[in-house]
Amino acid sequence: MPDDASNPCLSCGACCKHFRISMYIGEMAGHGGTVPDELVSKVNPVIACMKGTEAGAGRCVALLGEVGKPGIGCAIYAQRPTPCREYRVWLEDGSPNPDCQRLRANIGLPPLQATCCTHAQASWL
Ligand code: SF4
Ligand code: SF4
Repeated sequence: MPDDASNPCLSCGACCKHFRISMYIGEMAGHGGTVPDELVSKVNPVIACMKGTEAGAGRCVALLGEVGKPGIGCAIYAQRPTPCREYRVWLEDGSPNPDCQRLRANIGLPPLQATCCTHAQASWL
């Protein structure tokens, strides 16, 4: 994992309290996946979402720390669901994800600058 200086997510976390984090129930540990069942709400017979995010604009139950402050993190990083693995802070061309810019502004964080290192796009999400 990148250090704090190279990974803006480690002092942000805004996306983890904004989106509904939905997944196929096969991602739940009890269905052969990795996400702990107790942290998930079933939406219907085939879809589930992270607890806290059911209605959108809610904080994921797995988010640790204070949003927008250093030390924020995911309690289930290694077991996190697909939407969290696929969400990118930087796009393929190294420019910041516009959604990140909007979400960061909402919590009072400065905009991200384009990076020449696309490897940094892995982020913690
Ligand atoms: S992916 Fe974007 S919104 Fe989410 S923690 Fe990182 S910088 Fe913040
Ligand atoms: S990365 Fe972790 S804390 Fe953030 S939404 Fe996904 S499971 Fe929740």
